[in-house]
Amino acid sequence: MSAKLLEGKPLALKIKEEIKKEVAQLKAKSGQRPVLAGVQIGDNPAAEVYFKSQIKCAAELDIEYRHHKLSQEIPQDKFFSFLDSLNSDKDTSAVFIQMPLPGHIDSRLIPRHISPFKDAEGMHPENLGKLFFGRAKFIPCTANSVMELLRSTGVNLRGKEAVVVGHSEIVGKPLSLLLLEQFATTTVCHIATGERGLTQEHIKRAEVLVVAVGRAGLVKGEWIKEGAIVVDVGINRVNERIVGDIEFEEASKRASWITPVPGGVGPLTVTMLMRNVVEAAKLQL
Ligand code: NAD
Repeated sequence: MSAKLLEGKPLALKIKEEIKKEVAQLKAKSGQRPVLAGVQIGDNPAAEVYFKSQIKCAAELDIEYRHHKLSQEIPQDKFFSFLDSLNSDKDTSAVFIQMPLPGHIDSRLIPRHISPFKDAEGMHPENLGKLFFGRAKFIPCTANSVMELLRSTGVNLRGKEAVVVGHSEIVGKPLSLLLLEQFATTTVCHIATGERGLTQEHIKRAEVLVVAVGRAGLVKGEWIKEGAIVVDVGINRVNERIVGDIEFEEASKRASWITPVPGGVGPLTVTMLMRNVVEAAKLQL
């Protein structure tokens, strides 16, 4: 078998068209565009790249982007007061905070300092609770991007053997809930699965495989089950090239669908962020 490419860009374009229509409807009702506040602390070249792509995407969708750049030295209490001011600002529809934060700010406290109604990344405990019950309004962007890619294959996930490798709060855990919601039989592998040498065994029976670890070549192409749908979330820089976690060439001989890296999940995440912004603007209306 030779896999079909599961590309993020064309799908992102399609979803952007839907978002544009929603923004136009919102504007017609409220006279206002949705507003995303993007908050950055200090300088970080990687963050600059991400902000640029957010600003570009927001402009395409007629969403207003307000970039707030705060001093690297801002004390934690002042930072939280600043977030409170965004939470109570009537014009601001949603808030995004760029990670990583300086060491003196406890990033574990951040999600609960953003209003659950302005939660662009879907990480507020209340929204994660709704995700647990299958009633999420805001879905974490990377996990949502993976689900959109899977949906675009047209394959019914019900009863499928799905294996997620990686159990982070932003990708693996929310994704496992979303897959369960679709009645996929979902297994989650993580570092301890790797320590026992069992990751390969789980992957070999995966009809749907999603890998989000951040280690190039972790998943060997020969482990992929014939006909599997394969989504590689990993981003690794190897010899000046960006590669995923899965051996692409070998895996694509066996998979039915496979994401390229770059060009798979990545192009969708900012679009998913904007979808949450529009959802927030709708809620506030
Ligand atoms: P993380 O570091 O928070 O989590 C890594 C996960 O991998 C953990 O759950 C850990 O238990 C697991 N793990 C580590 N070694 C393992 C092994 N040998 N076998 C099995 N599991 C193992 O990472 P994250 O934030 O979820 O990101 C994962 C990767 O996805 C990174 O490369 C990151 O850059 C990428 N990423 C990409 C996008 C995108 O837009 N494409 C978005 C988010 C993250």
